[in-house]
Amino acid sequence: MMSKIDEELAERAYKGKISKEDALLLLNTDPFELFRFADDLRYEVVGDIATYVVNRNINFTNRCIGRCGFCAFKDNNGYILTNKEILEKVEEAFKAGATEVCIQGGLLPNAGIELYTGILESVKEEYPSIHIHAFSPMEVYHAARTSELSIKQVLYELKKSGLGTMPGTAAEILCDHVRKELCPGKLLTAEWIDVVSSAHKAGIRTTATMMYGHIESWKDRIEHMMILRDLQENTGGFTEFVPLPFMPYNNPIGKRMIEEGRYATTGMDDLKVYALSRIIFYRSINNIQASWVKLGKKLAQVALYCGANDLGGTLMEESISAAAGATNGTSISAQELEWLIKGANRIPKQRTTLYEIDKTENSSLNNHPREAGNAVFYS
Ligand code: SF4
Repeated sequence: MMSKIDEELAERAYKGKISKEDALLLLNTDPFELFRFADDLRYEVVGDIATYVVNRNINFTNRCIGRCGFCAFKDNNGYILTNKEILEKVEEAFKAGATEVCIQGGLLPNAGIELYTGILESVKEEYPSIHIHAFSPMEVYHAARTSELSIKQVLYELKKSGLGTMPGTAAEILCDHVRKELCPGKLLTAEWIDVVSSAHKAGIRTTATMMYGHIESWKDRIEHMMILRDLQENTGGFTEFVPLPFMPYNNPIGKRMIEEGRYATTGMDDLKVYALSRIIFYRSINNIQASWVKLGKKLAQVALYCGANDLGGTLMEESISAAAGATNGTSISAQELEWLIKGANRIPKQRTTLYEIDKTENSSLNNHPREAGNAVFYS
């Protein structure tokens, strides 16, 4: 194990140019050196502000024709929310000060584009100011095939109906040999890239995610992050990167892992993923989100010292991770997120989906290392 990071490698990292081999080498560095390096890069990019968003998750159905081996959410005798029920949830979110609703669901066999545009239009009609962050690339792909439309046409209709941004979920690991086993039937790597880059070109920004800790190797994780880096260099459409550790409970892949004596990811592995992602995305994706739902509140706080600068959302309601065995709760208050951030000696700031923050309350925030005195836009 290397106790120090090689100087030439560090230089390549500062240029945003580390290679897959460099990334693998970094994993052989003393983990605390790796964390410190990622933390330095985090400071260079976003300073000491750590952000969160006040939002609500709404999963409009848990029925799904998909066959993902990691999924504990799908239930073919499950529920489908009506637009009225969705609106009731949006109303609660709105009253609680949410700026964003995140709407996703399983794949219903006959779900055409009207299902998705109908949800967007009914929310926008009642709550025009709320930002709708909705529909995974898989849902966009599904709407295209059920409605016999192109991806571009679907994205156009969604945007016209009020879609603000999209979650970059369904990415799992962007290596087809992993996807064929992990999520057969889901869109392949090239198709995911096509949906996401088309969204960016249509002016719909997305997050980028990676679900890791199941059947993939470190090499696959690095390959995944390199694909995202290339895509961001082309489109600039990612707002953030969100590593999501796999939850091994109540799903076939997790069951098999546990039988083999493998459990969820270790905390050290999680922190290495955060650190490595900050180093790989240093010059491309500014925001790295630590998911308190997946990591737990305390490890998410520690991740703020390993490259992360955001703790995600208040959520108000979380069912996907909870179904897969996450025990970290389904809701968190803005106050508690601020408390966690202050406990890490960082400056808490509420942000919008697009990472806009109000800097006027504290002039010291204008001393942002990379964009000193600039507007509020991070990405
Ligand atoms: S992960 Fe999504 S697409 Fe796959 S089975 Fe579960 S709900 Fe369906």
